[in-house]
Amino acid sequence: MSDFSVKGWCPGAYKPMQSGDGLIVRIRPRLARLSAKQTLGLCDAAMVHASGIIDLTNRANLQLRGVRDEAHDALLADLDALGLLDATQALEARRNILTAPMWAKADDTQTLSLKLIRRLRELPDLPAKFGFSVDAGNTLMLTSASADIRIERALNGGIIVRADGAETGRTTDRTKAINDVITLAHWFATTRAADTKRMATHLRKIPLPTSWQGTAPAVASGSLPLGTSSKGLVLGAAFGSIPAQALARAMIVSGASGLVLTPWRLFILEGVFSPFAHDFLTDPNDPLLSTDACPGAPFCASSTVNTRQIALALKTPHLHVSGCTKGCARPQPSAITLVGNQGRFDLVRDGCSWDEPIKRGLTPDDLLKGYDL
Ligand code: SF4
Repeated sequence: MSDFSVKGWCPGAYKPMQSGDGLIVRIRPRLARLSAKQTLGLCDAAMVHASGIIDLTNRANLQLRGVRDEAHDALLADLDALGLLDATQALEARRNILTAPMWAKADDTQTLSLKLIRRLRELPDLPAKFGFSVDAGNTLMLTSASADIRIERALNGGIIVRADGAETGRTTDRTKAINDVITLAHWFATTRAADTKRMATHLRKIPLPTSWQGTAPAVASGSLPLGTSSKGLVLGAAFGSIPAQALARAMIVSGASGLVLTPWRLFILEGVFSPFAHDFLTDPNDPLLSTDACPGAPFCASSTVNTRQIALALKTPHLHVSGCTKGCARPQPSAITLVGNQGRFDLVRDGCSWDEPIKRGLTPDDLLKGYDL
């Protein structure tokens, strides 16, 4: 038994989530990276035990969909053999760490991510979605990504630990940063209300002690551009979904040394600096980069429409296609939202999937024949 617990629940490899098409198994790659061998092994596992689709999450994790109940144990064995499984479910749940993708060997981001992984057991009980980011490059990449305690480069060049929701953080250094993270996590755990799950929400109710403030974070650079980066070729995945077969082919043809994950539905073929033929997005103006579509039918039992098929056919920028009013793929407003309803689509403008539609009952044919969105 573990000596700590995680409150609430988030799907993992050990404890998958049931979906319309089987289990969803989430894998949390360490330092947002898989070696070439791990990537190819995972592609095999996705094709043998799951639907053959690998989803990228907004915390730079991976999900396999459509895993059959009876295949779960065999999948876990494969993940274990690939070094992609934690020793226990509790450790897996606790390793909720987002690492900035452009880290380099022995730099602050890599060093502090590894130190935090080694000291997970010192963290208090935390809500399931409570997470950490390590973002200590020269500019910040993860400012908009989901995290509750952030290790960041400071504007003055040092390192800070910042509570999400606070504008500034506490100055620290390589040797003290993880102690500070653990101390701040304990402050959150002991001062939060039972129904407060995230740091930013907590800070709206309880003021952060001034000892945790004072030093500004560095300038944010945000996501990566598509194309060649210092780490390799940055490619996009429509809807954040990667066909395992296409990924395996790209890894082999390009000779990539690894796969680097990001929270932005982009991935990097590590060590690849020349273009080659593949099946992924490369045009920064591709409307699919700004399109969200949940898995829809037949993958989710709540949907009566094929969300991704219509999104691919429409290729409309800033489009959100939701299988039902829940809006899993984009819980924020978008210019155009199509919401599945009894095999047809309702249209919401400048709103969310649960908002009042301006038009109901559009058929896929209406949309494909040029209904004015
Ligand atoms: S939005 Fe609805 S249909 Fe789409 S994944 Fe969520 S629950 Fe399923």
